[in-house]
Amino acid sequence: MRFCPHCASPLVLRPYEGDERLACPDAACGFVHWENPVPVVMAVVEYLQPGESAGRILLARNRAWEPGMLGLIAGYLEKGEWPEAAAAREVREETGLVAESVNLIGNYFFDRKNQVLLAYHVRAQGEIVLNEELVEYRLFAPADVPPLPTAIGRIMNDWLLRQFDIRRLS
Ligand SMILES: [Zn+2]
Repeated sequence: MRFCPHCASPLVLRPYEGDERLACPDAACGFVHWENPVPVVMAVVEYLQPGESAGRILLARNRAWEPGMLGLIAGYLEKGEWPEAAAAREVREETGLVAESVNLIGNYFFDRKNQVLLAYHVRAQGEIVLNEELVEYRLFAPADVPPLPTAIGRIMNDWLLRQFDIRRLS
């Protein structure tokens, strides 16, 4: 961001409480670019077929990612939407699956993108139909889930440990 979104003045760096922020030089305007983190919902999808009580974990590849990369289902909250509802909606939109339960795993921080990740375990059923954001998916037994990078890996490791007592090193 280089210009004030209120008055279009070029922003300048100003000290605030020991930090520097881009701010509007016009004192009457007073805009400060706080860079507040953006909340993102993440879903560890457990895919259950009819009659199954324990499912397999669905990981998917975004079309922007290189072959071989897999991740969780993720998305932004809509205005006025509860995070649990957003997690269920993203799973429905991206995989076609219908959530039967949505449970909080925890909150995480993705430093590089300045995002707060609200991570949920979503048990889901139905027919897998990927939307245009995803190019492929794979299903894994919990013990066979591959290591995942960054905060996604921490979410998965925490969940595997809690749910199945599976301890992962990476
Ligand atoms: Zn301004």
